[in-house]
Amino acid sequence: MKLHEFQAKEVFTKYGLRIPQGIPAFSVAEVKEAVQRLSQANPSLQKVVLKSQVHVGGRGKAGGIKVVNLSDAEAVSETLFGMDIKGLPVHKLLVEEAINIAKEYYVGITLDRNARKTILMASSMGGVDIEEVAESHPEAIIKVWVDPNIGLTDYQIKQVIYGANLPAESAGFIKALYKIYTENDCSIAEINPLIVTADGQVIAGDAKIDIDDNALFRHSELLSYQDPAEVDPNELDAKAAGLTYIELEGDIGCVVNGAGLAMATMDAVKYGGGQPANFLDIGGSSNPAKVTAAMKILKRKNVKGILFNIFGGITRCDDVAKGIISALDSMGGIDIPLVIRLTGTNEELAREILTAKGINAGSSMTDAVSEIIKLTKG
Ligand code: GDP
Ligand code: MN
Repeated sequence: MKLHEFQAKEVFTKYGLRIPQGIPAFSVAEVKEAVQRLSQANPSLQKVVLKSQVHVGGRGKAGGIKVVNLSDAEAVSETLFGMDIKGLPVHKLLVEEAINIAKEYYVGITLDRNARKTILMASSMGGVDIEEVAESHPEAIIKVWVDPNIGLTDYQIKQVIYGANLPAESAGFIKALYKIYTENDCSIAEINPLIVTADGQVIAGDAKIDIDDNALFRHSELLSYQDPAEVDPNELDAKAAGLTYIELEGDIGCVVNGAGLAMATMDAVKYGGGQPANFLDIGGSSNPAKVTAAMKILKRKNVKGILFNIFGGITRCDDVAKGIISALDSMGGIDIPLVIRLTGTNEELAREILTAKGINAGSSMTDAVSEIIKLTKG
């Protein structure tokens, strides 16, 4: 689950990290009010930053971050609302006091799966996309790997501070960021830019926090941060139906029972020259409703064809067949190829149900995979 910048900054504040004064605003009128409140709190305030709150990086480059005079805030906010940043509409802005930036740094923590450790990265080339820095100046990113059983040591903090030439005050920021990362089960916690102001203060200019969805159950305090407008409707529907579903980039929809078979199916599709559109596990105890939900999700995703690969154990093939029939009934049929492979518990019954409706179901996985690839090519 991704947090918006203003939410991540709330978390930062809880952990004592210094951030600019700011107020989220959902309309031009709220922008006006926010500017008034900020300038009451700080009478010498001359500029504010209007920051689009969408779940995507590089907002600055895309024109979603504007530093403006107080008197221009309303007019500029009008252009930002209704703007579209990398496909995401802007519904919220964070109105912040503008910071007089002398230098921008990068500090980020994430998981390095290969190393099986947490990785802390820092760079004096902050403000820009860290992926870009990683490509053009890999030597400018200092990395240390943190053993989760030992935790981040002061020595490692010094290593990145000296290595990346960060101001000494960053130590507190790094420590707190690591605490945020571990205590909230983050997959990413990042400050980019970590700003040194013209008068030498250190402050977090941006905040990025992603929470590991699989750990959300133990963070009820974070659930209110979930933004339904930003969650993929397919993933929401899949969750509600009890399906394990992950979107991929291809065009062959896969409906499979069991995670292992789902992986094997995706491998087989790729091996045969096709591209799976998703990972989808309807689970062990299939009921027809799950199958219907799965088909509707894939139809909405505009796949070129759907492959069912069912190995009946606890899963009953006749349940799956009933699900397919009821999905087709409620969708008024389907205009893309549908290839079904099923074998195992109640497969004869399943074939009867399907054949009665003029639908074929094979029993070989290899045949089914090559058929769906053939039917969806070109
Ligand atoms: P991102 O592009 O989505 O990562 O959004 P950021 O919050 O990191 O902002 C992008 C860039 O906008 C920063 O690197 C700064 O250069 C600039 N910026 C953001 N806030 C301020 C500010 O308060 N004052 C000034 N002068 N520039 C800012
Ligand atoms: Mn940023």
